[in-house]
Amino acid sequence: MRQLYSGKNPYIFRGEDGFFLKCVRDNIKNQRTSNSTYEAILNMSNFQEEALLSEADLHKIPVLTSLFFKRNNIITLNPDEVKVKATSSGTKGLQSQLAFDHESYRTGLIMAYRFFSYHKLISGMPTNYIVLGYEPSKHNEAGAIKTAFGVTKFAPAISRVYVMKDTGTDYTLNIGGVEKALKRFAAMPFPVRFVGFPSYLYYLVCELKENGIKLRLHKNSKVILGGGWKQFTDDAIDPETLYKMVDEYLGIPRENCHEFFSAVEHPLPYLKCTYGHFHIPCYSRVIIRDVITFEPVEPGVTGILNFVSPLVGSMPLVSVATDDLAIFYDHRKTPCTCGLEADYFRWVARAGVTQIKTCAVEAAERMEGANR
Ligand SMILES: [Zn+2]
Repeated sequence: MRQLYSGKNPYIFRGEDGFFLKCVRDNIKNQRTSNSTYEAILNMSNFQEEALLSEADLHKIPVLTSLFFKRNNIITLNPDEVKVKATSSGTKGLQSQLAFDHESYRTGLIMAYRFFSYHKLISGMPTNYIVLGYEPSKHNEAGAIKTAFGVTKFAPAISRVYVMKDTGTDYTLNIGGVEKALKRFAAMPFPVRFVGFPSYLYYLVCELKENGIKLRLHKNSKVILGGGWKQFTDDAIDPETLYKMVDEYLGIPRENCHEFFSAVEHPLPYLKCTYGHFHIPCYSRVIIRDVITFEPVEPGVTGILNFVSPLVGSMPLVSVATDDLAIFYDHRKTPCTCGLEADYFRWVARAGVTQIKTCAVEAAERMEGANR
């Protein structure tokens, strides 16, 4: 299985044909024998992994939704086999409980290393980090926090300054501290990386603008965003407007700004290309489903975003529907102008599941509170 995640080029799998399908079948078989809830779900749908004869059959795997993970604890492992735990959102609202075993975790690390090396985001140069999110803490296990912290290991950290600072029991907005740190970092001969939610970055550059501060950070400085644009407020920030502000107030050019898509129930990375497309690595497949019937739709049609991947062995995460609407494109029929020969999806919107509060929603609410 590890072979699927350890190639140098994340978009081309050089192993045997049918390997992805074999890994998916093995994953389902293991989950079936070790997780009685999942076994019941498979039986209810009369699903047999032997029915997966080609990748065109992947849509037949019963799909678990992120809401399902928020309402059910469906971890396959014994507690002593758990390497990393994560939850889906911040401190409020319904949360998914996720657990990863040692093997899935290690394979995930190798994958992340390969993927980010390929995209030239791994660097040996000491770097100062501004984390556009929460400080890791014992009282919060949100996956987004762990992801952001993981990203601060792509280049050796001199220091990490958090927009949401841990007070021991809660968080406090630390924009003043970040501004001070930025002025210090600008005088140092090292790059700065901004990692986390776009909403915080927007808030930060607005503050700089208001205070008349323009910085020229080291030329290798980077912005690495994740967590989406539209779910935190009705007034979506236009990414290109934000990148222009980042260039003006931080001195980081557009080509050093990157955006990723990932989900706590599907902890794999998708990098947005210059043309706004998330290309799909060989690690996973994407199925888009009709919002009402849940049947797969044709490329080019909007629907629910469903990922299939055999990465995680500690939970039945093999086929997961997110709360997002997206469009899938077959790169052979609709090549992307960026030139990357891999299928891709375009993110459209969050599906209308208003009761689910994500980290980003909470971030927006906190910022409103802090502005008052
Ligand atoms: Zn592209």
